Amino acid sequence: MTVFQAPDFDDHQEVRFFNDLESGMRAIIAIHWQGASNISGGGVRMKPYLDEQAAVADVLRLSRAMSYKFALAGLPYGGGKTVIIGDPQQKTPELLNALGRAVESFGGRYMAGPDVGTTSEDMVHIGACTTHVRGRPGESGDTSPATGFGIYHAIRAAVRHKLGRDDLAGIKVAIQGCGAVGRALGHYLHDAGAELYVHDIDRQAMAAMVSDFGAVAVTGGEILSLEVEVSAPCALGAVLNDASIPTIVAPIICGGANNQLAKERHGESLADAGILYVPDYVANAGGAISATSEGPDFDRGEAFATVARIYDTCIKIFERADQDGVSSSRAADRIASDIIGR
Ligand code: NAD
Repeated sequence: MTVFQAPDFDDHQEVRFFNDLESGMRAIIAIHWQGASNISGGGVRMKPYLDEQAAVADVLRLSRAMSYKFALAGLPYGGGKTVIIGDPQQKTPELLNALGRAVESFGGRYMAGPDVGTTSEDMVHIGACTTHVRGRPGESGDTSPATGFGIYHAIRAAVRHKLGRDDLAGIKVAIQGCGAVGRALGHYLHDAGAELYVHDIDRQAMAAMVSDFGAVAVTGGEILSLEVEVSAPCALGAVLNDASIPTIVAPIICGGANNQLAKERHGESLADAGILYVPDYVANAGGAISATSEGPDFDRGEAFATVARIYDTCIKIFERADQDGVSSSRAADRIASDIIGR
């Protein structure tokens, strides 16, 4: 199958394959859209993909999601993404340097950052061979606090729209995944008086949220189907699927994990079930917003104020969904594609 015929191909502007013989780096970089700034941004994901087709599908889908994410956040960037085919445990500085050279070959039209399988520290090795990288330690650094802050505001908006409440005191939220994003979200929710339920396969990460935020630990089988007001997937993609959706009783789903819908049609299934789903690329845009404000004049307060506007974006999406009689995921896609002009 060629890239042009791939189901996730969406008139992407550029898809390039890189193969560095010395380091073993094999990567694909996709630019979905350049944006008004002629810069497309998106993280570097490293994963042992089953095959090349799976890697192509991921890079196409994720780069398009980045275009939508920036468009809805009101930023002038387009969407890009890198996937490195390989096991993150076997990452070397040489491999990351080689990726830096690949990024550099775009001449600034693509800006890289951390994603699943890469860290802030990895950006230092990539940055040794290109200036077009964000998210190094000491810059905006770890993006997860901004991501968690954005999801918190998205939850506030969903609670306002679905439950008619302006505060989160006593609202029960089930967080799947106690990693960087789940924990950051837990922090803001705890401060707002929400009651937390958590699950992580990493027992230590889960125990930390129990002791720091008074969260209740539950099993992996329970977390998505708990009787709570909000279910917040913050670990894996494709958790909203034919098997899980009928078991969900929470009226709101809003979390940070990328690609939560196994298939686009699951957005409609959620709406049909009366569940308000906040599209992941809207809720989790905080990290991207913060990373793009990076630079010598980086002002964390200003960046976080921009992230808080995710609340308004969510309200706009919910209202459009009601007005058009479609799911929130379709409404968000419509608003984003209107902005992008496709
Ligand atoms: P992380 O690696 O810090 O945390 C992920 C956590 O999920 C880990 O603690 C892991 O043990 C846990 N986990 C894995 N499988 C699980 C399972 N089956 N059940 C429960 N927990 C499980 O990653 P992160 O930075 O917190 O990112 C989480 C999600 O948010 C990812 O999908 C990522 O793409 C997305 N995201 C992150 C950012 C960011 O700023 N870090 C921004 C946007 C989107």
